[in-house]
Amino acid sequence: MTDTQKLEIFSEILRYRTVSRQPGEVFDAKPFLETAEYLKKVFPKVHRDFKRETVGGESLLFSLQGGDRSLRPVMLTAHLDVVPADDGEKWVEPPFSGNIRDGRIWGRGSIDYKAGVAAMLQACEDILEKEFTPDRTIILAFGHDEEVGGSKGAAEIVRVLKDRGVYLSSVLDEGGYIYSYPWMDRDVAVIGLAEKGYLTLRLTAHGVQGHASVPELSTAAGSLCRCLADLEKNQFKAKLCSPVEMMFQATSDMFRESVTGSDHAPTPEEMMRIIEEWPSGNALVRTTTAITMISGSSKENIIPAFPFALVNFRAVPGDHSLDILNHVKSIAEPLGVDVKYEDTNQIHEPSGIASMDTVEYRAIQAAVRKILPGIPIVPGIFPAATDSRHYGRIADNVYRFEPVHLGKEGLGALHSEGESIAVEDYLNAISFYTAYVRSVSTA
Ligand SMILES: [Zn+2]
Repeated sequence: MTDTQKLEIFSEILRYRTVSRQPGEVFDAKPFLETAEYLKKVFPKVHRDFKRETVGGESLLFSLQGGDRSLRPVMLTAHLDVVPADDGEKWVEPPFSGNIRDGRIWGRGSIDYKAGVAAMLQACEDILEKEFTPDRTIILAFGHDEEVGGSKGAAEIVRVLKDRGVYLSSVLDEGGYIYSYPWMDRDVAVIGLAEKGYLTLRLTAHGVQGHASVPELSTAAGSLCRCLADLEKNQFKAKLCSPVEMMFQATSDMFRESVTGSDHAPTPEEMMRIIEEWPSGNALVRTTTAITMISGSSKENIIPAFPFALVNFRAVPGDHSLDILNHVKSIAEPLGVDVKYEDTNQIHEPSGIASMDTVEYRAIQAAVRKILPGIPIVPGIFPAATDSRHYGRIADNVYRFEPVHLGKEGLGALHSEGESIAVEDYLNAISFYTAYVRSVSTA
């Protein structure tokens, strides 16, 4: 198959409006079912040799049985759903066009994460051009609700595999990319070895509703605001988890040149103090505190009785949700503000940290070197959640890497207006997954 044909397939996959919906919103399954039909048509060899199952309504699970049953299977995962997209001015081509212009393929999902779906399948299709029998079972899992928590897709796939007694050697998911941090003078390939935890707390102050013409000297809203200000003042302690410490060690040279201007390379502890000034750096070294919603009364002349705020926390490995709750309570309760979990179903502890001493990690490194010779490869952590919050339960190690350049925006590019991927990156992604599958499939 030519590159042009491969690009045309990817463009077509971007045209299906597989938008995920929050619970309560109307979900349209049709584009997912149409995508599944289309994949059957364009990847005939995969559909000939892999077993394909539909799980949880619209998620897809492919498996190719390995010859050596003593080896644990490896999984590659991506997701079919995308976040919504309106036609904003940054869309050089419309969000569901899949059109190619200026060397880029435009479309919602072009990075997150249909490039994964298409390039993983394309890689397997290419490998199956010739006789191919892996020693190890290869599993491809494509969820359909990752953007809303994965409870119907990935969670269901985990249940199905668990029922069959499947335990994975590893999962390769999104969450590491090719980008740079503000202190770096060039792009690096960040392989995510962990993802941060997730927690939202509701802080409520208690007072009396009253008329704005006769306020008390101190109101519940005032207490809530003091409490929020104190929370920002008393940030969680910065700490270095092992992937971030290794990232710092690997990039301290760039740090010296681009930031300190001095010839002495900073220690990881010194780096930690400097990088916390940048939001993206801060997110690497501490459990972050983000005040996201604040509510008072519904009218300008009513003093609210129960003003509240929601505060979202992303925990670094080592910080537990209970530590966060206790820290916030110690600040809030003396001010008369009470603290509750906003939704106990949406509490995620930080993931475990994947090992760098595995066949899979070395396979990722080798595949990166093949497509981008000379690029520094560094471990990292991903500040958001992926479907691997579920898959991690049945796997020894989870690696997070998608070989795509995010550009200046860094991780901010993921759900942005004008999502697009360089043609070269997409073709490289196919080569990357091809090399990865080939090397992890042998014993
Ligand atoms: Zn994603």
